[in-house]
Amino acid sequence: MLTFCAVILTFLALGSSIPLQARRKAPHKLLLISFDGFRWDYDQDVDTPNMDIMNNDGVKAKYMTPAFISITSPCHFTLVTGRYIEKHGVIHNMYFNVTNWQKENYLSTQGISPWWDNGTLPIWITAQRQGLKTGSLFFPGGNATYGGETVNFKRVEGRLHNYSNEAEWKQNVETVMTWFTEEDLDFVALYFGEPDSVGHKYGPESQERKDMVRQVDRMVGHIRNRVKHHGLESKLNIIIIADHGMTKVQKGSDEIVLKDIPDFSFNDLQFHLVDYGPAGFLLPKEGKLEKVYQALKGAHPKLNVYKKEDVPKRLHFSNNARIPPLVLYGEPGYVIHSYMKFQFNKGEHGFDNDVMDMKTIFRAVGPSFKKGLIVEPFESVQVYALMCELLGITPEPHDGDLEVTKNMLLMDNEKDTGLVPYMLMLFNKKNALTSWTLLSSCAKAPDPCSLADEKYDVLSVVMCTTADIHWPQW
Ligand SMILES: [Zn+2]
Repeated sequence: MLTFCAVILTFLALGSSIPLQARRKAPHKLLLISFDGFRWDYDQDVDTPNMDIMNNDGVKAKYMTPAFISITSPCHFTLVTGRYIEKHGVIHNMYFNVTNWQKENYLSTQGISPWWDNGTLPIWITAQRQGLKTGSLFFPGGNATYGGETVNFKRVEGRLHNYSNEAEWKQNVETVMTWFTEEDLDFVALYFGEPDSVGHKYGPESQERKDMVRQVDRMVGHIRNRVKHHGLESKLNIIIIADHGMTKVQKGSDEIVLKDIPDFSFNDLQFHLVDYGPAGFLLPKEGKLEKVYQALKGAHPKLNVYKKEDVPKRLHFSNNARIPPLVLYGEPGYVIHSYMKFQFNKGEHGFDNDVMDMKTIFRAVGPSFKKGLIVEPFESVQVYALMCELLGITPEPHDGDLEVTKNMLLMDNEKDTGLVPYMLMLFNKKNALTSWTLLSSCAKAPDPCSLADEKYDVLSVVMCTTADIHWPQW
């Protein structure tokens, strides 16, 4: 009886004959936003009205699985390259040199291009090479040069940057709006360092973390308001992601301290990188690999020890020359100390990405996305192909598959008018509601007369969003 609107997904053929760097524009602009360390369930014990509205207006994944090891720079680079960490080679937040023991912290490493530029290009370089204009504001990897190219517009944080300042967040949002409106950028990657910092300092279950999630939520609302103010709502897709989750650190007598493990000696090592959360790397001296491995394997019930080639395949963390011969990581909550208990964070990440507390978020809204859709979990390696599709650029080789995410996208004829759910309500001769049907994915309101049936006197078609639907009480 009823004519239902079918959802048929079609995709534009990717242009491959564009001359290098000839200016062209993406079908829609794209803003990629990262809220570092936003665990998948952080919105479940805090009121997040703005994120809830965004869910209704767009797409939400139940959760997203980060790459391993689940720390900031490696996981962000997976998001913008579509490559597992063993493929892109940014294996740690810290640049390190096993020969001279040079180790650089997170922010210093942002400026060391050889650490980032291993032949895998972030999406902003690929987009620029295909004629688009891009920007990065504090985004990990945004301060490096790739094959001699840098992102068109960038902001880089200073060494003592305060990542929690809400007023500065708003200034950064205005910078991004200016980039989109006055500089006509097609793609911007925008990074916020929270709620990671409070999650580390106070723990993921703390009031401080909950307060910061409220701040994040306010910022989501603010960003969407500013997008509307600048007339970008129908031109701009927004994807909100994070790099990893957070779990409570276990304190007590069973903490992992390598020095206390019998038969293990730091004298057998040429290099080590530990005291950095739950994951660590060891390079034994020549001829000492087996001794060190045997000393550590099974030595502590909360410590996983692998020769790099034996790291579980699902973690994709074996096949890179930068990965030292021994890879260590703690069971959930257990960090690895070297000589003494040196780490005092109440929250940590870096654990096995199978651990639910390491899972993170994926949200999206904009003219290309369906509304009110919740999708099954997927890996963060999938985001890159989706972003390339949204920007209309040809992706570099990657480890994802657009098939995983394309069900989030509207069909072409829905993009122009916007997808609106309608409710068809059927009334009997006494004006009592007798039946209703949700007509999803309609580009415009169906004509009630075309749907009329002799059984009904009154027939009404009501435009609604999924949030507006009040299911009838029978
Ligand atoms: Zn992070």
